[in-house]
Amino acid sequence: MSEPTATATATPAPVTGTDGAATLSNPLRAGMSGERIGDPCSIVFFGASGDLFKRMLLPAIYLMKLDGTLPSDFALIGFARTPYTDDAFRDYCREQLQTFMPEGQKPGGALWDDFSKRIGYITADFKDTAHFVQLKERLAANDRDLGTAGNHLFYLATPPPVFPVVVEHLRKAKLTPNDNTQGWTRIVVEKPFGTDLETARSLQKTIEHAFPESAIYRIDHYLGKEPVQDILALRFANTIFEPIWNRNYVQNVQITAAESLGVEERGDYYDRAGALRDMIQNHVMNMFALVAMEPPVSSDADAIRNEKYKVLSAIAPPTYAQVASMSARGQYGPGTIDGKPVRGYREEDEVAKDSNTETFAAVKFFVENWRWAGVPFCLRSGKRLARKVSEIAVTFKPIPHRFYGEKTDTIEPNVLVLKIQPDEGISMRFEAKVPGAKDHVRAVYMDFNYGTGFGITSPPPYERLIGDAMRGDQTLFTRWDAVERAWELVMPILDTWRDSKDFSFPNYASGSQGPPSAAAIFEQWRPL
Ligand code: NDP
Repeated sequence: MSEPTATATATPAPVTGTDGAATLSNPLRAGMSGERIGDPCSIVFFGASGDLFKRMLLPAIYLMKLDGTLPSDFALIGFARTPYTDDAFRDYCREQLQTFMPEGQKPGGALWDDFSKRIGYITADFKDTAHFVQLKERLAANDRDLGTAGNHLFYLATPPPVFPVVVEHLRKAKLTPNDNTQGWTRIVVEKPFGTDLETARSLQKTIEHAFPESAIYRIDHYLGKEPVQDILALRFANTIFEPIWNRNYVQNVQITAAESLGVEERGDYYDRAGALRDMIQNHVMNMFALVAMEPPVSSDADAIRNEKYKVLSAIAPPTYAQVASMSARGQYGPGTIDGKPVRGYREEDEVAKDSNTETFAAVKFFVENWRWAGVPFCLRSGKRLARKVSEIAVTFKPIPHRFYGEKTDTIEPNVLVLKIQPDEGISMRFEAKVPGAKDHVRAVYMDFNYGTGFGITSPPPYERLIGDAMRGDQTLFTRWDAVERAWELVMPILDTWRDSKDFSFPNYASGSQGPPSAAAIFEQWRPL
């Protein structure tokens, strides 16, 4: 789609949270303001000395401060084993923001001073209830001195085996929603939620012992990406797509989450996870549910999450006999990325030399309901592929009868592509007449790009999601029934792959399209 107005092509503005003059020049920016301010609260980051905190979570919170969406009565408490005093942790936070915030948004001045005095730290042994009692006292002090109103947001940013340990100690220290008579208590749980169906159920059991579902925020940062949220707007704020969003018009749906990077510094984690667990079970399945679900009755969190669960429950998990025809796996070998030679997966740091972990996974599912019967939904994700691209491509059926175009012309089917990253936008492929006396036709594209269209850089997903947790909006967080269902769908594949080594590994070169075996389950993959 072309930009809706001439002014929509303005240079993207930095995220400021206020419309100001930009709104005057770009009407699409009207309504973008700092209205989404969270409730006053203390947010506790378990695992505050880790990678996720410094690269994503802390910058997201600071961006909220810059945007004006962070409540003024706010406090941040870091909780980890690495020893810091409050002051040393403030210095640490400043250093990290200096590194990870872009130019123009580095910490400094009155804004930083106000932010930093609301930061504290507890050096903790995660297995010692005494440190959780200390946390309780600190939270009470914040409520009294910093106006945080008895509202407590706990963020689990530790390795997953530590999640139940933290939850159990929160319960013992009487820090659960039931114990809180002053305000709300919520918990954000990082991915992965379990490593298989059994461990996910066990983790759920521990958490629900202390927190009701209404206080549990299972984060999937893909859902915080603007183009993923736009799936709902595209489908339900327009009339032209929904009538054709079904088996009568759609040939297939392809959801791709491809990386050109390898495992980088996360070899140890990745070698125990693999592509199916790391990407398909959570991020890709969430996108799938949004694309395939029925229209929700309202925009309430549970109205939307009911439909997501319903559509996932309409997919039949593959039987063990079907796994080979419905899934494909691969592992990258050496190859070339951006003209530079790169090593294979088994040569990566902290990866077993004979690893059988998949770095590429593809799955074909069918939704067994009236709308989608017979339409393949093909999902794939992998590392060290030809390029970084996440997208949802809906390919429509071929024209039913041909009377136009020269006989030698190929008439391509229409394709609607929702681009998630690195480009953010929507693209529609259609046939157009080539200028000239002959009736030649050729595929052309209408493109809409968020950056140029709205004249603003999309906010980082963690900023949106942490803000939602502060405001008590669970829409973009995955409910337990959907998590459990997604595990049920992938378990036969995981079990089969665990029990059968793939002797062809590595079976795709870095920088390629992935393993040739992917074509055995679906022949029309879009080129990467
Ligand atoms: P790190 O290993 O970098 O950090 C883990 C944090 O937990 C540290 O603060 C660590 O610090 C603390 N910790 C507490 N107990 C333990 C323990 N027994 N063993 C190891 N660390 C412990 O992990 P990440 O920050 O990368 O990941 C945190 C969570 O976020 C994980 O669940 C991960 O799956 C998830 N995640 C991470 C992403 C990333 O890009 N990093 C992306 C998406 C999700 P200390 O030793 O001081 O206690």
